[in-house]
Amino acid sequence: MPRPSANDITQDRLPKISHGRGVYLWDVEGRQYVDGSGGPAVFSIGHGDPRVNAAVAAQMEKVAYGYRYLFSSDPLEEMSDMLRRSTGLAEMVYTTSGSEAVESAVKIALQYHYDRGDPARVKFIARKRSWHGNTLMATALSGFEERQRAFAGALPVVGRVSAANAYRLPEGVSREGLVAHLAAELEAEILRLGPETVAGFIFEPVVGAAGGALPAPEGYAKAVAEVCRRHGVLVICDEVMCGSGRTGVWRASEEDGITADIITVAKSLSGGYLPLGAAIYSREIAEVMAAGHGGPLTGHTYTGHTACLAAGVAVQKIVAEEGLLARIRDKGPRWQAELRARLGHLPQVGDVRGRGYFIGVEVVADPATKAPFEASLGVNGRIRAEGLRRGLICYPSGGNADGVAGDTVILAPPFNATDGELDEIADKLVATLETVLNGVA
Ligand code: PMP
Repeated sequence: MPRPSANDITQDRLPKISHGRGVYLWDVEGRQYVDGSGGPAVFSIGHGDPRVNAAVAAQMEKVAYGYRYLFSSDPLEEMSDMLRRSTGLAEMVYTTSGSEAVESAVKIALQYHYDRGDPARVKFIARKRSWHGNTLMATALSGFEERQRAFAGALPVVGRVSAANAYRLPEGVSREGLVAHLAAELEAEILRLGPETVAGFIFEPVVGAAGGALPAPEGYAKAVAEVCRRHGVLVICDEVMCGSGRTGVWRASEEDGITADIITVAKSLSGGYLPLGAAIYSREIAEVMAAGHGGPLTGHTYTGHTACLAAGVAVQKIVAEEGLLARIRDKGPRWQAELRARLGHLPQVGDVRGRGYFIGVEVVADPATKAPFEASLGVNGRIRAEGLRRGLICYPSGGNADGVAGDTVILAPPFNATDGELDEIADKLVATLETVLNGVA
């Protein structure tokens, strides 16, 4: 029997969405939901912001779309400048999703090596319990076996290393020894594949869908980046979910003290208003590709769609003008501590972690052994359904498919949620988990 997944609410039981304002959504029957996760961590400034709607309408009035490879535009230039400033990187390929951003990152890495005369570097390494998207290469990179099995025969082979999970330590490894262990494991994998054949290592600085807002332990990013650099392997940070400000800094890897060679972003970039993503890359990569082929050999019809960029620019202006990242840095840690304290009476809550407004709660059947709930119980599906019943949108993620991780739920509220709204999200999550966890006890 396939495990009931986070998507186990059948289409005919889904509430029909009517409208949204700020942190709230309403269905056509008038039920109100507080959006604690922006669906899958998408809404950075909440729903229905008139400033974004006006900016998009104004752009649509002028022209909806100018083909990226024929025209520049104000939104394109403004967004590109903003991305350069925020990441310290040089150039970008725009996309309409996170998966395409990951595909673009992979192609950019391959082309970079090819153009610099090192065409044997064609392999990638990614982590277990990771999620990079639903296109074919992104599925191959994702360490999420249940989502790969049906396609396994057609997926490119990807080197695999452990998740960076301080809550679930590899056997025989201490918390203090974890970073060194993981860096050594990555190096061993590079050596196993043949260092001269490895193009890039991709990881999420804070794991999203596959791990429940799980940050790597301190020092991890620096240690793995050092291993990669030593072997000429590009560092690709997938910040589709954790980036664009969600953790309180514009790129999550900034807090880890590294600048990746390529960063992927989407979701909070345009905050759900219109589809927008990007693969952003270094000056060195840009120059090599410019010399080799005149630029990146990737791009789509809707790359840099003008109205989508206008939405992104409007969202990013609001984030900057309202000082929302500073607000997240101030409130995020306190909110996380409050949540941890308020969930303390539920023994099955094994771990509360995250960064900024990206918080994960991992629930387990046995807190002593950290044994996950039986897959057949479908705990994270139940959390989602009970949340909806109580008027809470949260993002159950991960799950115990391979028996090595518990069910998790992510909170990723809008950056501009008020204290009262964050309290309401916390109240509803606590009540939801009480009901579900007492029900499976
Ligand atoms: N990378 C990460 C880290 C993600 O969280 C996701 C989406 N959950 C993707 C890539 C894929 O993005 P999209 O669904 O927009 O294709």
